[in-house]
Amino acid sequence: MQELIRRLLIELGENPTREGLRNTPRRVEKALKFLTGGYGADLDAILNDALFTVDYNEMVIVKDIDFYSLCEHHLLPFFGKCHVAYIPQGRVIGLSKIPRLVDIFARRLQLQERLTSQIAETIDSKIRPLGVAVVVEGTHLCMAMRGVEKQNSFAVTSAMLGVFRDHARTRMEFLELIKHRSSLPTMDSSTLASVTDEAEPVTRR
Ligand SMILES: [Zn+2]
Repeated sequence: MQELIRRLLIELGENPTREGLRNTPRRVEKALKFLTGGYGADLDAILNDALFTVDYNEMVIVKDIDFYSLCEHHLLPFFGKCHVAYIPQGRVIGLSKIPRLVDIFARRLQLQERLTSQIAETIDSKIRPLGVAVVVEGTHLCMAMRGVEKQNSFAVTSAMLGVFRDHARTRMEFLELIKHRSSLPTMDSSTLASVTDEAEPVTRR
């Protein structure tokens, strides 16, 4: 990887032997390996010791989970907040594992839509809850930095499964509980793109 990065620097018109760049290939390789570390993660090993049987069937919400990912189209960062909720049906996931799950899927070359649905589908398959809801708010540097469509560099995507898809009241309860976040002042279910229903995300200023 380091030789490729050295050649990339030359292609960019740089001199890879100048002092500031001399160790850049090594640093970039290390950074990229960390930022794509999700590929090597063993999801089962991480989650299986944190799945518990409980008699609890109220909504579990973990919100404002920070994530950092790389857009697969430009290899540039997109980042923001992720909110996850589910209604258990006899089994729960240890709360600290939910941000871990977000990290595992974020640390790859991603699309925000796929990130959103992978988080929801993993929780769904691991504990078979009554429903799962995931909302991801991301700022995309590939749009913001390149000066194109600056107004659309912020995107909100959602995946609603089970009762969150089927029952408007359950979905609204979740959206109410996450909406006092500053970036979601006017969000309601009609302005959200649902990954499960439509392919296109709604992008918002
Ligand atoms: Zn991009």
